[in-house]
Amino acid sequence: MLAGMKKCTSGKRAYGSESLALEALIEAHIQFNYRTGSGPVSVYLCDECGQYHLTSKGLMNERLAAALTDGSIARQRAAVHWQERFKKL
Ligand SMILES: [Zn+2]
Repeated sequence: MLAGMKKCTSGKRAYGSESLALEALIEAHIQFNYRTGSGPVSVYLCDECGQYHLTSKGLMNERLAAALTDGSIARQRAAVHWQERFKKL
């Protein structure tokens, strides 16, 4: 069976690789200012569809934790904010 051919019953968006899922995880934190303890925290390989999904359960992914701690997510969020402002002008 080819991965990704079957629609996953989780109803979650599926990513073809762990690195794609991690990018999406970090992107989500840039787009949405999640409060501590909410929002997706990690990615996992799904038994059903063989692709990766984001999850809000479990321990926070190391890359996400590092990006939150070193301020890179906050900086990119500010950049996105200004891009949006610019579009409206
Ligand atoms: Zn799945």
